[in-house]
Amino acid sequence: MQADRIYNFNPGPAALPLPVLEEIQESFLNYAGSGMSVIEISHRSSEFEAIINDAITRIRRLLSLDDDWHVLFIQGGASTQFCMIPMNLLGRGDTADYVDTGTWSTKAIKEARLLDKSVRVPASSEDRNYCYIPKNIEFDPNAVFAHITTNNTIKGTQWADMPDTGGVPLVADMSSDIMSRPVDMKKFGLVYAGAQKNIGPAGVCLVLIHRKMLDRVPDGLPSMLKYTTFSAKNSLYNTPPSFAIYTVQLVLKWIEETVGGLEKLEAVNRQKAALLYDFIDNGDFYRSTADADSRSLMNVTFRLPDESMETLFVEQALENGLGGLKGHRSVGGCRASIYNPTPMAAVEALVDFMKDFEKRAG
Ligand SMILES: *Cc1c(COP(=O)(O)O)cnc(C)c1O
Repeated sequence: MQADRIYNFNPGPAALPLPVLEEIQESFLNYAGSGMSVIEISHRSSEFEAIINDAITRIRRLLSLDDDWHVLFIQGGASTQFCMIPMNLLGRGDTADYVDTGTWSTKAIKEARLLDKSVRVPASSEDRNYCYIPKNIEFDPNAVFAHITTNNTIKGTQWADMPDTGGVPLVADMSSDIMSRPVDMKKFGLVYAGAQKNIGPAGVCLVLIHRKMLDRVPDGLPSMLKYTTFSAKNSLYNTPPSFAIYTVQLVLKWIEETVGGLEKLEAVNRQKAALLYDFIDNGDFYRSTADADSRSLMNVTFRLPDESMETLFVEQALENGLGGLKGHRSVGGCRASIYNPTPMAAVEALVDFMKDFEKRAG
């Protein structure tokens, strides 16, 4: 770690791989011999075309996407997808199933209903404050899609396996676990992910859409809210967030060339999460908030004996070079976000600090 950088456990925007930040810094004033910064070049230039196409090629390779899949970069964050999905995929008489696993799924349901779409909620974990992932869900075989949030950033839960929908295509918000593990994309019709958790900075949302879903898009939508606008123009209909896409390209290159792919990344992610959960489970000072079989490998949520201790914990952690450990304001407590770029050393340093804090306060 560089002497003046801290270990960053922020939930998003979040830590990025140091080699990526260094590469950006090194090439910042003169990108690829252009004599201009990457943020000064035209989005129509051959340099930028190479960036966006390389990012798309890497995504296709990492997730084994065939030509039926379109890879799109859209602004407005994952939150804009909450309305774009029902606008584009649900016509009159169509229905969709949405599983409610907390904050982000709840918002996705709310936005679809605002548009007067027919949305059914076949399962919810609201009864226990969203501390688990529902099981044995009966999906509507006639639904156009079944929507899930694969990782619940705020509640600290994650789908360990994708649900059996009986062939109904999954539409998934993967904002906080995209590229953290291999996934079988055959089960999906659409996947979206705000870049700022696992694969880049804020400002761009990655959307993967299958041709069968793209075929559903009606003509009458505003251009910027219509998937076909982006698929027809390789996400270059208007000026894209070029710096964000460039950073995503570098993170993908880091995953492929430095880490060695999604299997390797998942193995490291599992080790990081296991170290933290095992430590929490082995004592009674810290308490995990999610059911053991539903725990997130990305966002580890936990409580201390009381709120004043939690405040002190977050403060003292920062004084010790460990930042971003406060839980989301809607749930309180503490949360360590340990996305792809977070190194094992950061989690080891956190566990050491937690031991020390417990000794002093416990
Ligand atoms: C952060 C987050 C969002 C919101 O993303 P924005 O890009 O801020 O709109 C949506 N879903 C999940 C799962 C998230 O973690």
